[in-house]
Amino acid sequence: MKMQPKDLLQLSEQFGSPLYVYDAEKIKSQYNRLTKAFSKVEKLRINYAMKALSNVAILQLLEGMGSGLDTVSIQEVQLGLHAGYSPERIFYTPNGVSLEEIEEVNALGVQINIDNLSILEQFGAKHPNVPVCIRINPHVMAGGNANISVGHIDSKFGISVHQLPHLVRIVENTKMNIVGIHMHTGSDILDIEVFLYAAEILFDAARHFKDLEFLDFGSGFKVPYKKDDIETDIEELGKKLSKRFNEFCTEYGKNLTLIFEPGKFLVSEAGYFLAKVNVVKQTTSTVFAGIDSGFNHLIRPMFYGSSHHIENISNPKGKERFYSVVGYICETDTFANNRRISEINEGDILSFRNAGAYCFSMASNYNSRYKPAEVLWMNGQGHLIRAHETFEDLIKGQIGLPQIADAQ
Ligand SMILES: *Cc1c(COP(=O)(O)O)cnc(C)c1O
Repeated sequence: MKMQPKDLLQLSEQFGSPLYVYDAEKIKSQYNRLTKAFSKVEKLRINYAMKALSNVAILQLLEGMGSGLDTVSIQEVQLGLHAGYSPERIFYTPNGVSLEEIEEVNALGVQINIDNLSILEQFGAKHPNVPVCIRINPHVMAGGNANISVGHIDSKFGISVHQLPHLVRIVENTKMNIVGIHMHTGSDILDIEVFLYAAEILFDAARHFKDLEFLDFGSGFKVPYKKDDIETDIEELGKKLSKRFNEFCTEYGKNLTLIFEPGKFLVSEAGYFLAKVNVVKQTTSTVFAGIDSGFNHLIRPMFYGSSHHIENISNPKGKERFYSVVGYICETDTFANNRRISEINEGDILSFRNAGAYCFSMASNYNSRYKPAEVLWMNGQGHLIRAHETFEDLIKGQIGLPQIADAQ
């Protein structure tokens, strides 16, 4: 059963606000859309980039659909194991972590990915037989937000393609076992041609290694945030990249596995953030709608300047007016400026779209507020998958002022 705005309203009454709601059907349909687009590739693997939304129930949902997991920290690896993923289905693609952490993850049986020459050389010297994937930076500007574009020349991510000769020398000297090549050109790829161009660079790099088992093309698929927004044409990308990938496999002489690691694509549109309007405040220049939340719960508008579509689900048919939607944090905390929303009254519930990816997972306790509850909408019903926090959570681990006897 498809989730309706009135279902969201009912969930906010049942579970309180603010609240995160995720639609299981939408996650499933996005997953299926991606696998279908690449159905011509014999060995396809999708690793969900869990940093987007790491609730254990979401991890379990995707595990059940056959997804693998893309992780960027040892804690994410541990969460994945806890959620029921076998180590072979977990992939570890960190940036700038210590050799010790990489060794620990390797010991758990998880595929590691190394993104700099220094660690590669140290790891290779110590563990020549371990299958390793390397992250290449193809230096392709994939468009989108400067904070999340990671393929450009100044980026800290990956080993530059220009360092390939040095990379090959390290691999030969240490006799390490390179089984995969990885790239992740960053979020918000606007243009399929750019992606295909980066893929050619990856193929070129791959030709230097004889024992590959997979090529990992990362992610960066763009999802629509507003009406008429551009989104990555997955079907078109599937058609073109599958063809090129299969040609490359023929040339390479082996059927490699094609890996993607989408976060946003799988969960962004499945998420709704619900918040209640505490106060409507008319000033000389605008009408503020102040909600019972802030950038502590949804930081993307303040951090990335992203625009989340906002609906007044308490008054969907109301006359539209212009509002500035703001949070309760004691500094500038704006969700939307000059936004057309159907007339807002105090107590109304606003629904923010695209709240599945990088929303709860980036939430904090700033201003000593509790993090919201999370609900999964599945089979026509809302299921609590994380209770909202309580005062206990705020003081957990805090010791208080040390009790030191006064010096005489
Ligand atoms: C964050 C990240 C992803 C997911 O990016 P999305 O834009 O959310 O799809 C994939 N791979 C790596 C290595 C990442 O760091």
